[in-house]
Amino acid sequence: MAARHSDVVIIGGGIAGIATAYYLAKTGITSTVVERDGLASHASGFAYGGLSGGIPDGPNLNFPIIQKSMGLFRELAQGLPEQTSVDIQYRQRPVLKIAFNEAEATEASQYLVWQQEQVDYKVEWIGAVDVLALEPRVNPEVIGALHIEGGGDVEPYRLTLALAEAAEKMGVIIRTGNVVGLRHHGSQIRGVALAGEDISADTVVMAMGPWSGALTEWTGVNVPVRPLKGQIIRLQANGAPYSYSINHHKNYAMTKPADNFVWCGTTEEEVGFDEAKTTESRDAIIESTLRMLPSLADANLALQTACLRPVTPDNLLLLGGIPGIDGLYLATGGGRQGIMMGPAMGKTIADLISSGATDVDIAPYDTGRFTV
Ligand SMILES: Cc1cc2nc3c(=O)[nH]c(=O)nc-3n(C[C@H](O)[C@H](O)[C@H](O)COP(=O)(O)OP(=O)(O)OC[C@H]3O[C@@H](n4cnc5c(N)ncnc54)[C@H](O)[C@@H]3O)c2cc1C
Repeated sequence: MAARHSDVVIIGGGIAGIATAYYLAKTGITSTVVERDGLASHASGFAYGGLSGGIPDGPNLNFPIIQKSMGLFRELAQGLPEQTSVDIQYRQRPVLKIAFNEAEATEASQYLVWQQEQVDYKVEWIGAVDVLALEPRVNPEVIGALHIEGGGDVEPYRLTLALAEAAEKMGVIIRTGNVVGLRHHGSQIRGVALAGEDISADTVVMAMGPWSGALTEWTGVNVPVRPLKGQIIRLQANGAPYSYSINHHKNYAMTKPADNFVWCGTTEEEVGFDEAKTTESRDAIIESTLRMLPSLADANLALQTACLRPVTPDNLLLLGGIPGIDGLYLATGGGRQGIMMGPAMGKTIADLISSGATDVDIAPYDTGRFTV
């Protein structure tokens, strides 16, 4: 049986894979995206979509990619509505990272000076009176908050869908298929194997999210990506929409325009590839949400979702070519910020494939760093 051919095959129809296909197509290189379950059917379709104010909680080697992505989001917000029928609901909106005691206040503001140096919008510590003036529904036990004015969010499913639609208009093929192995000849990649079919290609990008560990079996290069489950609930609440993302520790609540529900999260669960929703996590999220916003006690539960973040042992991306195999690339490890970093991950891989170079220092994301 003759193999089908595509210049580039991308495995995975999440944000990392679809952003790669989009930016590659913009350079004139079309690709085939192979997705086994459905476009954005895992984390890229169900994430909160917070853009963390465009700054990490503290100094972080993923920051160059985050900064690059924030610039790309501004471009996408302009360009995608013209190219597609999908509104990605990108918007600027502020964050209140609240604290209930001095220890939490110290933790929330420990990198404030560093954060202020990184961005051109206001990041400041404000007291309880100011917090409650900005959002009177915050728990009055609050003692203050980190106020990040330049935050933002996006609707992740719509973002992935819009990039996919724009990519398809530029010639990208998105198809269903379960990739079960790689084909290579010597050190040169030659394509992918699906159940009962091969697709030949001189370039393959693996963007398989938490399932990227398959690369270890397929190539011997150690890719210790693990799934970190997270759940979100969406509440139907009375009253005005929240215009601040209210955050406390690793939890958050915010009205999203996609459905006008208050999206509340989240959990971090080390349970392997189990994507089931659980009552325990639902109750834990309700508890953390009511600690932040007690008046939501009257809200109705509208939806609960669960999905898996792709996490690396050092929380840094795996981004770039695979050592020893020409034409094979890896784009994963977005963890809790994979939507925010997705456009820049895709653009970086597209630049590497199309020109052999990228304007981001990808040394910290070396795909061979876990192979001894
Ligand atoms: C509860 C929760 C909240 C989150 N909130 C945020 C947030 O606010 N901001 C943020 O930036 N990030 C957030 N994230 C993180 C973000 O969702 C992920 O980091 C990101 O979606 C990962 O994208 P991906 O493309 O790498 O992986 P995925 O979205 O998992 O896509 C990988 C795809 O590859 C496919 N695949 C795997 N193996 C194969 C194969 N062999 N053949 C074919 N296809 C295959 C899968 O079916 C899947 O569709 C959140 C995550 C969770 C769980």
